[in-house]
Amino acid sequence: MGSSERVLAGLAKKIHGEVAERVVDRLAKVGEATDEQLSQALGIEIATIRRTLNALYESRLAKYRRVRDEERGWYLYYWRLTDEFPSRVLEERKRKALDILRKRLEYEQGSSFFYCPRCRVRYSFDDVVEFMFRCPGCGTDLEAIDNGVVVEKLRQAIELLEKLKFD
Ligand SMILES: [Zn+2]
Repeated sequence: MGSSERVLAGLAKKIHGEVAERVVDRLAKVGEATDEQLSQALGIEIATIRRTLNALYESRLAKYRRVRDEERGWYLYYWRLTDEFPSRVLEERKRKALDILRKRLEYEQGSSFFYCPRCRVRYSFDDVVEFMFRCPGCGTDLEAIDNGVVVEKLRQAIELLEKLKFD
């Protein structure tokens, strides 16, 4: 396996689990395969293989070409690993991660939070108004939290990710 395929297999495992890693390994070895071939070669149920292939397609780790089977009258899908790897795939992951972090930051900055010192549960302002500033679990008065630390950590994570370059 080449180095980019090893990275691919590692990524596939991280994102989609063990079966995905084995599918990527197999595709790296044979170049191209149908879901049936993969199912037989790996001894994994075809439904699981299909689900995994779709997931790999969604994260742009694998792609397919469609060929009409004249005899049986349906389409066969030949799967292979993406060739736009690795930078495009990683950029896509980065974009998604940044999206989530930025939304989270916006949420943290836009609201105030309270917590119950006994249950150690955190509540948003909207919740506590409804609970009249008392813990719905134990009745203790809720205390305001300074979420400055969370905001700072989110900022740092966003900054780090933004600087990250793949090529
Ligand atoms: Zn409580």
